[in-house]
Amino acid sequence: MDFSALQVIQQRIGQAMLAAGTRVRLLAVSKRQPDSAVRELAAMGQIAFGENYVQALVARRRVFDGIGLEWHLIGALQSNKCRLAALHADWVQSVDRPAIVSQLARFRSAELPPLNVLVEVNIDDESSKSGCAAADLPALCEAIAAQPRLRLRGLMAIPDARSKPDARRSSFARMRRLFDKARDDFTHMDTLSMGMSDDFELAIAEGATMVRVGTALFGTRSGQDPAVPTDPVGTP
Ligand SMILES: *Cc1c(COP(=O)(O)O)cnc(C)c1O
Repeated sequence: MDFSALQVIQQRIGQAMLAAGTRVRLLAVSKRQPDSAVRELAAMGQIAFGENYVQALVARRRVFDGIGLEWHLIGALQSNKCRLAALHADWVQSVDRPAIVSQLARFRSAELPPLNVLVEVNIDDESSKSGCAAADLPALCEAIAAQPRLRLRGLMAIPDARSKPDARRSSFARMRRLFDKARDDFTHMDTLSMGMSDDFELAIAEGATMVRVGTALFGTRSGQDPAVPTDPVGTP
């Protein structure tokens, strides 16, 4: 990978932050990228990394154990993967239904700090996408807040990738309004995760506090997704 890519992205985030008057964290989306690329970014000070699959996250955690990296699960989560996610992730950004809330809470070990969670909202009502409907947000936030092993940090969205910049921007703006409204009741929420390689500046302009950047940071993804869903035993 290109060492300067991180600096370029940091600079672009910095500019957008200044214009918006906000603070924004960068999540480096390392899915299907080699360990060597993660190692290089970590050596340059990048802390937060995102993976789409639980098995991939577990594997990374093993490789990079003990150096203080933070692992975020950003892909859709099945009930039968909640145990592994609860034991190995620092954040789960894709919580979108009550069954996932109770499973994550059930398996988050008492020896670990509470699991940070974001509620994923299907902001463009795409039938193919995970994420809850905006109308279900209050009940889901309540359910998470009632779980001492979980910590409700905010909201996440992936707008329709086919939409034009104007429509994309309006999706981000709607997320921001949902976030502000949810914060009336859940005042400790501090994270609005939205914006990817091709639209993170737009997302920051509309109030994102975390952007998830993959290809613009690492280049084209070339690796494989984890093939067989295994269930390795053990805690972090
Ligand atoms: C892959 C992915 C990203 C990063 O996408 P890029 O376009 O490579 O920046 C961000 N968020 C989620 C949920 C993803 O699955």
